[in-house]
Amino acid sequence: MSPKATVWVLGDQLNVRIGALKQASPRTHRILMVESAHKIGGRPWHRQRLHFIISSMRHFADELRNDGFVVEYVKAPTMTEGFGRYMAKHPGTHVTATAPNSLAARALMERLGVETVESNQFLTTPGEFAAWAATRKSLKMEDFYRRQRIRLGYLMDGDQPAGGKWNFDAENRESPPRDGSNPWGEPLCDALDDIDKAVIAELPDNCTGDEPVGWWSTTRTGAFRHLRHFVEHLLPTFGPHEDAMLAGNWHLAHSMLSPYLNNGLLMPADVCDAVQWSYDNGRVPIASAEGFIRQVIGWREYVHGLYWLWMPGYLDKNELGAHRALPTAFTDPASTRMRCVGVCAGDVKQRGWAHHIQRLMVLGNLALIAGVEPRALNDWMWSSFVDGAEWVMVPNVIGMTLHADGGMMATKPYAAGGAYIDRMSDYCSGCTYDRKKRVGDDACPFTTLYWDFLLRHADRFARNPRIVTQVRAAQKLKDADAVRDRAADVLHLLDTGRL
Ligand code: SF4
Repeated sequence: MSPKATVWVLGDQLNVRIGALKQASPRTHRILMVESAHKIGGRPWHRQRLHFIISSMRHFADELRNDGFVVEYVKAPTMTEGFGRYMAKHPGTHVTATAPNSLAARALMERLGVETVESNQFLTTPGEFAAWAATRKSLKMEDFYRRQRIRLGYLMDGDQPAGGKWNFDAENRESPPRDGSNPWGEPLCDALDDIDKAVIAELPDNCTGDEPVGWWSTTRTGAFRHLRHFVEHLLPTFGPHEDAMLAGNWHLAHSMLSPYLNNGLLMPADVCDAVQWSYDNGRVPIASAEGFIRQVIGWREYVHGLYWLWMPGYLDKNELGAHRALPTAFTDPASTRMRCVGVCAGDVKQRGWAHHIQRLMVLGNLALIAGVEPRALNDWMWSSFVDGAEWVMVPNVIGMTLHADGGMMATKPYAAGGAYIDRMSDYCSGCTYDRKKRVGDDACPFTTLYWDFLLRHADRFARNPRIVTQVRAAQKLKDADAVRDRAADVLHLLDTGRL
């Protein structure tokens, strides 16, 4: 009997344990995968991001074939056309899919009449998150995270948190070692295989960033190799330096597992179970285990839940009235004299990746205090990061980074001057600008714009107890007018790509 039913697998659902595929077998189902030229060429994707998505899809198709499935991998101008071609070839087949991870893809499935089943790609469904949110006056991540710990049982000692505390964040904010040492070794780098090379040859001309060299595995086997490497070699030292930045070291102890979690090659439980095992066997201190588990069962799930709770509409938020274009320095890192921005944007160009503090406190911070249009930053980050996806970028950019939602997500704006960047990095020592100065031609742009940001939005933030002290300090500055003048110059230089 030939298979009649079909499972349509999307490019971020590459795992036989996910949703509709979990219920399928080669005897009863064939597989549809569609590579859409419109999606591939529709925006200026970073080469490594696009390569990672497409090559992982093609490798997964082969993996399913090896498991005995008949896989039809359709290359078409659009998803709709690809689906139409498949249906013309297999009229009457019943198509199911795992509920997609974006609003647009869910709307597409509905329009095409494809039945969807609940996704288990996250540990919390949008419905479960909405039910939790409905019981809360405010949606604090920490509250959600503690509930996740209890519900899922990670790092628990009976009904109490392992190590006696829910959160070891205070121990995880050490400055970076400044002696040039590299206790973390070098990250894994795969040899590119024939599928990888074929995808590179097909990448469209409008791509940005450098060519793939193997930083991002495109198979499940490779993803698990990265997971093992992280847990065995990096996790023990992950905690203390998780917020640190070094010009000569792009990875430190970061797991760099988010691309695999976001395209399905790894499931959250794969990662959390490995960390729990390592902690249980005394191989990793609680501060490191907790810091990492919080990212996966707390922050990642929280951001995903907020996306479904607040979209559509949330993407249009712009409470601070920010309308500046994306700084040239983000897309052309060599053009800036701000060393911190040059290094962080350079990391993005080279590998499609920068860690969370580089994203939030350097690139995002500059966008916040300079007043960059939220959509412009969102689109750039979504296109440029190998782990980018709409569900993760929208809350992180609109809520956490730019405070464009007026405080729905984060209770204060994450604005900082050069002093913070200097404390957490070695960037300032080799910079043209002086991080201590807020006025003058060599004043640090972050320091100038930080004070100017507080002055510009003083009325709004004077009502916010988490930042009112800084606002009052800004209002007492004797050189406030000079700060405003220098800020106008800085913004002009930023707009003209000369900062
Ligand atoms: Fe960045 Fe300012 Fe430090 Fe230069 S001095 S690296 S611009 S924070």
